Amino acid sequence: MKDTLFLQFFNKTKSGYYDLCNGFSDTWDLCRQKGDFFWVEHEPDNDKWYDEQTYIDRELPINKGTIYISASYINQLFQAYTWATQYPDIDFIVGGPVAAERYTGQEGWNSVHFKVEKELPQNLMITGQSVESLFNMPEFSGNWRLEIPDAVPENSRIYFSYTLENQCYWKKCIFCTISQHYKEHFRKRKNLDFEFKNLDFKGHKIVRLNTGSITPAHIKTILPNIPIGDDIEYRFFMRAAKAETNALKQVVNKIGKKIPECTLGFGIEFPSDHMWQYLDKGTSMKEVIETLEFCTQTGFKVNANVILGWNNLVEQDLKDLEKFMDGFSERTVTTLQLRWLFAHPYTKIYETYDGVQNTIRLGPFNCGFNVMVDDRQKKLNLEAARIIKEKCTLKKVKLEGYKNLRKGQL
Ligand code: SF4
Repeated sequence: MKDTLFLQFFNKTKSGYYDLCNGFSDTWDLCRQKGDFFWVEHEPDNDKWYDEQTYIDRELPINKGTIYISASYINQLFQAYTWATQYPDIDFIVGGPVAAERYTGQEGWNSVHFKVEKELPQNLMITGQSVESLFNMPEFSGNWRLEIPDAVPENSRIYFSYTLENQCYWKKCIFCTISQHYKEHFRKRKNLDFEFKNLDFKGHKIVRLNTGSITPAHIKTILPNIPIGDDIEYRFFMRAAKAETNALKQVVNKIGKKIPECTLGFGIEFPSDHMWQYLDKGTSMKEVIETLEFCTQTGFKVNANVILGWNNLVEQDLKDLEKFMDGFSERTVTTLQLRWLFAHPYTKIYETYDGVQNTIRLGPFNCGFNVMVDDRQKKLNLEAARIIKEKCTLKKVKLEGYKNLRKGQL
């Protein structure tokens, strides 16, 4: 094995597919010239993710050299930190979403996912730059390639990313880390060749079309051209707004029934006009329902993401929530995912919400906290959870995350 490695993590998820955090696919040729690829199985049990003991007994195949790491999640970054303390003769250069997603403020650059509270080892570099930029190559310079880890069975399901661009064109929602991304690290794929169509893998492929929120232009150029088949499906996030819905309608008119199998993720956050205004979602109840209905009638699956834990709900929000849940037809939403509001350091939510005493730390990294709300707001949020559960049962919507609300404050 060479003394330069490009390390990517993978793990089997609770849903049974393998999540390949394939950060080096865009730079495969370049990395291959410089070193070897190396897959590491990431801890699958997320109850152990914040236990520092989880990361100490993971041996590396080299003792000196350089390891480039693609880290998608904070605990993968913490794994890199742990290795850096254990292997002083290896330089660790960590990129990937959790490292790269950053903004610059008065105190210099800061990650949008964590705050560094202690000095980092000298041999650990956390970077927002792509490998191409570190090696002075133009962006998206080589072939997109993906080697499947040996531990993944041939006929299983794999989930991997194909980057369209690494920001969000909307960039306004106040709780969102993506909205803060530093524009100097903006990457956008110009040639959409969908290279993953040549992947030599017999199982099922779930392709994440990676961008904060897909643009109307993407919808028009990508959907009519992406590979279709029984063994491939797509996932992406979209704003439930007029421009995107019109773009979808145009595409469907053009391609008719030959639409690719897609699950569209919608950040509903909290369905009321008051809350959407507060969050700067730039959309209204009418537009959202129209988008969701159109998707279902056409055959797209809808994954709606709702957040609870707000500290400013009013009675009218609950009425709007109920109206929203009553407003769409049965099975319009395939899955509704609930989560408790999490305050990432440096966000407006972090500065304005209570709960800092619950801060989650991994080594030197302050990851933020699950927000806390007062009794009155707890009651309103709890009532919102009850309405959602009841209506999901009625509308035959799969509800996920309800039990995890306990990890918040309900
Ligand atoms: S549309 Fe989505 S990705 Fe974009 S800023 Fe809002 S929440 Fe973030």
